[in-house]
Amino acid sequence: MDESTPPALPKRIREAIERAREIASRAHCPYSQFHVGCVLIDASGRWFEGCNVENASYSVTLCAERVAASQAVAQGSRDWKEIIIVSPTRVSPCGTCRQFLFEFAPDMQVYLGDLTTDDVIGPLALRDFLPMAMTLQQTELPRRNS
Ligand SMILES: [Zn+2]
Repeated sequence: MDESTPPALPKRIREAIERAREIASRAHCPYSQFHVGCVLIDASGRWFEGCNVENASYSVTLCAERVAASQAVAQGSRDWKEIIIVSPTRVSPCGTCRQFLFEFAPDMQVYLGDLTTDDVIGPLALRDFLPMAMTLQQTELPRRNS
């Protein structure tokens, strides 16, 4: 393998991408036509699935990531290891989802795939998507240069 070839994805990630594609086909997205599916994998290997669910009142739309995360919480899972998100354009999680996921698993790994190719971005650390994420812990003050 030369240095320009990315390492092969683990089998579970390849399988999760395929599953996320199936889930994306179920998205309720009559307004955007932008199908997103995701699989969240917890530390014990359980999978939780989500697709985007749009609404005529746009602001109440749910992203695939928050649907999967909410299912995980409802089933007692809060130790999350990886999230695999597929969309038409390998879209990155929105700001709301970054914050939502960070609450539970700031060190989870993120993979971004698309609906048709084998091109995948990741693994990337969720923490890197949301520097200085909001938490209820005391935030360190930045050092001043004076
Ligand atoms: Zn989102």
